[in-house]
Amino acid sequence: MHCHQEKNKGRVALITGSTSGIGKAIALQLAEDGFTVVLHSRSSVMEGENLAKSLPGATYFQAGLSDQTQAKGLIAEVLHQHGRLDVLVNNAGINAMIPHGSLKEATADVWRDLYEVNVIAPWTLISEAEQALKDASTPECASSIINISSHAGVRPKGASIPYAASKSALNHMTQLLALTLSPDIRVNAIAPGLVDTPMTASWVEAHKLWKEKSPMKRGAKPGEIAHTASMLVASSYLTGEIILSDGGLNLT
Ligand code: NAD
Repeated sequence: MHCHQEKNKGRVALITGSTSGIGKAIALQLAEDGFTVVLHSRSSVMEGENLAKSLPGATYFQAGLSDQTQAKGLIAEVLHQHGRLDVLVNNAGINAMIPHGSLKEATADVWRDLYEVNVIAPWTLISEAEQALKDASTPECASSIINISSHAGVRPKGASIPYAASKSALNHMTQLLALTLSPDIRVNAIAPGLVDTPMTASWVEAHKLWKEKSPMKRGAKPGEIAHTASMLVASSYLTGEIILSDGGLNLT
């Protein structure tokens, strides 16, 4: 009795950071699944507006999510424009590449910036959207939240220790909120390994690692992460899951 394409007509999905990479792929996939999608980014307004024009009923909003007023304003704008919210995908995130042994390079400001965007912004968006997600939820088409974390938040690795710790916090928040917001709102996370996006194009070492060590012999395409998001949204039962999407690297 999962919620299929026809039933998604009129349902609204907000995907943060959706003018490029994983977020854009999730927005295109959810549009294909029948959702009215709301696109968002911090700065690429032209891309966002053009993408919105190409998808039926879609809109685009710009907001800097390290600013609490703008984060709250984003949810208010979505509700003002669309009148409801069924799915929230917290995809926007930042990274910091710092060798794990260079402790002094990982300054308090680095920690704060990562925490602000990767942890506090998703929290604020979820708390602002909670009532609307509850109102839109039905047993057949339960509202859901998907947080895009990272395999670095599950295993002790990643581009830097502050990045990995911020994604780990997002995973823990996912499970605590799954307990707190059930049964009306399901809350899950996707923890990708390496995904082919502009952000990772220059990560030669990571590409080598996945090619040589992962059972799938490659990183993921953004569309493959979007497919997992689509499955989680379609489920009427899964909650509190952190779906490791690393092509099996964790097994080796
Ligand atoms: P990307 O750089 O293409 O997308 C990041 C998005 O986040 C952009 O749209 C940007 O506008 C938005 N963003 C960043 N800071 C923001 C801020 N302060 N306010 C508002 N928006 C902001 O990167 P991507 O690779 O598609 O990453 C998407 C998510 O997936 C991130 O959370 C990232 O940590 C996670 N992730 C990516 C990989 C990978 O290999 N690419 C692996 C694991 C996890």
